[in-house]
Amino acid sequence: MPLSLYVDGPRWRDHLTKTADDNPGLIPVAKGNGYGLTVGRLARRAEWLGVDTIAVGTYPEVAEVVQRFSGDILVMEPWRPFSPGVSYGDRVIHTVGRRSDLAALPAAAGPGGSPRVLLEALTSMRRHGFAADDLAQVGRSIRGLRVEGHAVHLPLGDGHVAEVERWLAAAPARRWFASHLRHDELDELSRRHPDVEFRPRVGTALWLGDRGALQAMATVLDAHRVRRGEQVGYRQRRIGRDGTVLIVSGGTAHGVALVAPNAAASPRARAAALAQGGLSASGRALSPYLVDGKQRWFAEPPHMQVSMIFVPSGATCPDVGDEVKLQVRFTTTTFDRVVVS
Ligand SMILES: *Cc1c(COP(=O)(O)O)cnc(C)c1O
Repeated sequence: MPLSLYVDGPRWRDHLTKTADDNPGLIPVAKGNGYGLTVGRLARRAEWLGVDTIAVGTYPEVAEVVQRFSGDILVMEPWRPFSPGVSYGDRVIHTVGRRSDLAALPAAAGPGGSPRVLLEALTSMRRHGFAADDLAQVGRSIRGLRVEGHAVHLPLGDGHVAEVERWLAAAPARRWFASHLRHDELDELSRRHPDVEFRPRVGTALWLGDRGALQAMATVLDAHRVRRGEQVGYRQRRIGRDGTVLIVSGGTAHGVALVAPNAAASPRARAAALAQGGLSASGRALSPYLVDGKQRWFAEPPHMQVSMIFVPSGATCPDVGDEVKLQVRFTTTTFDRVVVS
């Protein structure tokens, strides 16, 4: 009795190939919950797209792609001496952002090969990486490692070209891995620097860039007629008017009604986040479920695997076994099944 993600296969695949065409050198990013689609599925899709490299977020995620994708695997979390050892040999490219890690990696990787690394720049994101002077210096004097290029991870938004230009001048490299550059910014940089290879790392705009190809659906598991004043749920809340309480698949275990804090940057974004199921302080919350064309209120906050929503009398109620649409944030939702047509 699942929470399902339906993917319009032809439309989705069209978008993937178009995005790959628009972004020469594209490196698909497959991490976390796989943008709702699972990392394994994205790895197979990347293989189908024919790219030579995939990027994962963490070392444990390497295991999810290594059998499904035949090219190189770029790990975006920086390598640390306490990182779990991975023995996928030459296919793995490590991200390094500290001198001490550069010094420790060759020995940690064991005898034989020299590990492949990219050197990360500490951009205005201020997450990980070398400061500009450092990056320029370490790039010149590396032993026991093969440097694949430098990387910039930029904040969301635009106006990135100037920052990338500063890095190119300060710490030249033949290849730059870039995150969150728009493809017109990338085109501009490629035009200005024909001798530099840019490799855009793209997740959201690739996998979720055509939202119309994706639809989340919940299954109606039960339906109970209720009268005004009756009590329901763990918290025994009183129902305000006559109607039906629907029990639908999708709860906190799936990430339903959980909102990542960074979603709420502006008042408009906050309103949208709330509409997508953030629980309001008042205790009453609009659910992300759509019944008879309208978003409905939670009868009480969602449970682990199901939610109780209230449909007032007068609205058309679905039957048990029917599916209803819901709006989700794909990066925080775990579906019971994904159906690609
Ligand atoms: C997650 C991540 C990406 C992909 O981000 P999207 O916004 O999903 O495209 C790119 N680069 C790095 C370093 C990341 O951590």
